[in-house]
Amino acid sequence: ATPMSVMVGVGRGASRGILIRNAEALERLAAVDTLVVDKTGTLTEGKPALVGVEGDDDALRLAAALEAASEHPLAKAIVDGAREHGLTVPEASGFDSVTGKGVRGTVEGRRVAVGTAALMAEEGADPAAFAAAADAARAQGRTAMFVAVDGRAAGLLTVADRVKETTPGAIRALHAEGLRIVMLTGDAEATARAVARDLGIDEVVAGVLPDGKLDAIRRLQAEGRTVAMAGDGVNDAPALAAADVGVAMGTGADVALESAGVTLVGGDLSGLVAARRLSRATVRNIK
Ligand code: ADP
Ligand code: MG
Repeated sequence: ATPMSVMVGVGRGASRGILIRNAEALERLAAVDTLVVDKTGTLTEGKPALVGVEGDDDALRLAAALEAASEHPLAKAIVDGAREHGLTVPEASGFDSVTGKGVRGTVEGRRVAVGTAALMAEEGADPAAFAAAADAARAQGRTAMFVAVDGRAAGLLTVADRVKETTPGAIRALHAEGLRIVMLTGDAEATARAVARDLGIDEVVAGVLPDGKLDAIRRLQAEGRTVAMAGDGVNDAPALAAADVGVAMGTGADVALESAGVTLVGGDLSGLVAARRLSRATVRNIK
């Protein structure tokens, strides 16, 4: 690479809010044929709001007590939702975060867990009574979380996270560039499919833990694809680092910025179309 052409390319990107780490990232971008995107915080705003509560009167209050200790965006939705319902949120006396599954701990001497069906199974709680409501919420692209109290399914909390205004246009532009777009999420399959269908996303990998995100990137690479992965860094830093080009949403976690080849300052995916054009122009100058 001629240092001059790379500097010009990097400089042009920066003036449009596209930060490119180095010559390698700029050159690799031209070869990318697959874009993997995290759902929460990348396609969506990452600011979920509580929209549904089912089950015992106490379920939301006890769930919020645990979530007050969690940093997850879903946790904030539940705590804010409880306050909006006029509830006083008690202190939790023990708290454990179970990555990609939820939270559990002790509130008012009771064992409480909030999260996925897999977490409920670990608690010995059968969420069958809430399955239909969970399915209905997921079909609308909402995230459903079960609440267990003392090993018994006690409630269902559903949250909605708006798709970013810029996402549909960005997906269209990236498709026009010939990219295959894959959604990767820890959320349930039905939720992911509902969001993907509305956006015209080509493939969905759902229900994965952070290690599963890494595996998904490796599988695509093993199929001969050159992969860019866009994420906000919450749970997806290993996947960002394994991709041929890691793309951080500038609005996300610092850890994403550290492992990314490209940072989109405004968090708008359509910046990638411009970045690829720069990349190709630079590669042409080099050759
Ligand atoms: P994403 O890939 O969308 O960022 P995560 O891997 O962070 O999702 O979480 C996967 C799933 O685990 C969530 O959809 C939710 O059901 C559950 N979960 C994660 N964190 C929490 C939490 N703090 N409270 C309740 N449920 C949670
Ligand atoms: Mg995430």
